[in-house]
Amino acid sequence: MTTSTSPSSSADPALADRFAAVRERIADAARSAGRSPEELTTIVVTKFHPASLVQDLLALGAVDFGENRHQEARDKAAELEGAPARWHFVGQLQGKKARQVRAYADVVHSIDRVSLVDALADPAHPLDVFVQVNLTDDPGRGGVAPDELEALVEHTEAAAGLRLLGLMAVAPLGEEPARAFARLRGYADLARTIAPEARYLSAGMSADLAEAVAEGATHLRIGTAITGSRPLAG
Ligand SMILES: *Cc1c(COP(=O)(O)O)cnc(C)c1O
Repeated sequence: MTTSTSPSSSADPALADRFAAVRERIADAARSAGRSPEELTTIVVTKFHPASLVQDLLALGAVDFGENRHQEARDKAAELEGAPARWHFVGQLQGKKARQVRAYADVVHSIDRVSLVDALADPAHPLDVFVQVNLTDDPGRGGVAPDELEALVEHTEAAAGLRLLGLMAVAPLGEEPARAFARLRGYADLARTIAPEARYLSAGMSADLAEAVAEGATHLRIGTAITGSRPLAG
């Protein structure tokens, strides 16, 4: 292996290069949309990767990390106890796991039903949340159906201890992300008529971050473009 010319202490120079390239893409997307890159939070989705990768990313200046499976997230958060990492839970969440997730997660992006709100809400444990909207016609995908969105936003807004940041969504396969995110922006406008403080938007992944930024995303959830391909599950 050749010596890296990068000043970073990362174990993997390619990681530093990918991270820098994504930052550049985000800055370009912000400029194209007439927005400031400072309004954007980049969450590095580290699912299936070991805690050591999170450590390398922390050394490169990353702060926000996303996970979609409770056990894996819990173990990683425990391994990195005391590190300046903020954990975002972005996967589908069972009600019976809600309290456990609340123990390490700083933000839950996947509120999709009233019963999950009730399971997470606790005035003694404040938690930032996004309500996830399903942009597909498949009810098996994460997120609340658009026609149930208003009721869920109302319920979340009223829940003790939960701070509703805004909406979250994943662009469907087989649809132009720009179209899907335009729809999402409409839902976000609707949500703000109910919960004016819910001004953030969690959208945009490796393949569609520019389209998301153009439609007002504030929290980008970027996996493979930064981490490289994911090791197989298991
Ligand atoms: C895995 C995942 C991401 C990151 O996806 P990439 O295509 O690897 O950038 C973002 N959001 C959610 C909900 C995910 O599960």
